[in-house]
Amino acid sequence: MANRQFQMAKRLEVLPPYLFAELDRLKQAEIAKGVDVIPLGVGDPDQPTPNNILGAMHRAIDRPQNHQYPSYEGMPSFREAVANWYARRFNVTLDPATEILSLIGSKEGIGHIPFAFVNPGDVVLVPEPGYPVYEIGTLLAGGEPYRMPLLRENGFLPDLDNIPPEITARARLLFLNYPNNPTAAVASRAFFEKVVHFAREKEIIVCHDAAYTEMYYDGKKPLSFLEVDGALEVGVEFHSLSKTYNMTGWRVAFVSGAAPVIAGLGKIKTNLDSGIFQAIQEAGIEALEGDQSAVEEMRVLYQERRDTLLAGLKKAGLVCDPPEATFYLWLPVPAGYSSTSFTKLLLEKAGVAVTPGNGFGISGEGYVRFALTVSKERLAEAAERIRKIL
Ligand SMILES: *Cc1c(COP(=O)(O)O)cnc(C)c1O
Repeated sequence: MANRQFQMAKRLEVLPPYLFAELDRLKQAEIAKGVDVIPLGVGDPDQPTPNNILGAMHRAIDRPQNHQYPSYEGMPSFREAVANWYARRFNVTLDPATEILSLIGSKEGIGHIPFAFVNPGDVVLVPEPGYPVYEIGTLLAGGEPYRMPLLRENGFLPDLDNIPPEITARARLLFLNYPNNPTAAVASRAFFEKVVHFAREKEIIVCHDAAYTEMYYDGKKPLSFLEVDGALEVGVEFHSLSKTYNMTGWRVAFVSGAAPVIAGLGKIKTNLDSGIFQAIQEAGIEALEGDQSAVEEMRVLYQERRDTLLAGLKKAGLVCDPPEATFYLWLPVPAGYSSTSFTKLLLEKAGVAVTPGNGFGISGEGYVRFALTVSKERLAEAAERIRKIL
């Protein structure tokens, strides 16, 4: 059967199987049966992009100079807006010319950075459970992912002291993600300080994925990794407009930090893509510099949803740590279930679709992830349906 003409490259064979495929199929089967499935599986905001951003896009699209190839590294005005945002939000000073690069979504930058710094056989430290792109980018670049388990007893922070010295000696990159998907954990300043020390001593580049810093509760603002002394010399931070401004479809993000790292990723990107549509960058400037009241409204909305779901699940006998950030709940499954069997039970008996924790890595076994991406009425209904079957 293997036909030479269409044989895919070996680098695709090393990618892990897509663990959610069977569950996607089961969910589609329930929907086809006419079941009113409440979708709490996918982390994609349900709210529209704020109007001030849409207005900026409408105006920008009418300017012919925006129709040509954009600059590779992002318009100076866009990078300037990012620098101003970092100064306002985190009190971090960045040079827009050398310490900021635009990205076509942070997934793009995260997936490409190993191509700039990882040789075949080099190790990349990745959190597990985690966003799959850290490991996949590493594998595509010929690197070896080393999985750092995120365990509840460690606050879902990796235990850096527990990584074998022969691994750290070969490691080039360390991926981190706080506030964390899928565990909803946040990192302390002490942890980030430890990371800076570790990275400096072992000469490893830190790649911090900060997609959820603006999605927080109870007014407790998460830190930027770059706020910590020395961070700008050891690493970069990926940030995205996707979650903060309900712009997942727009593909606009940025990476900031150590200039040599920005230069390396920029070199890969200059050879592979041609930047972000300038009209989208102008809309991005409005997002970062314009009225922020929609972001505050988003936080209020998610907080209501979080509290509704936590209260409803509690009535069903299910409890988890209330998240301080992100729009996820990371719930331990009841005794006698695995991540997969509990996910199937919720789907087939309650019509509630969640994500099994083991799909994010083996340490996610025993958990399921709920995304707060439907109204609080629907969340209350989901919890009530779950209460009835348990
Ligand atoms: C949603 C998400 C992102 C953002 O991805 P974009 O490509 O910027 O849309 C990055 N990291 C994590 C962990 C996410 O969940």
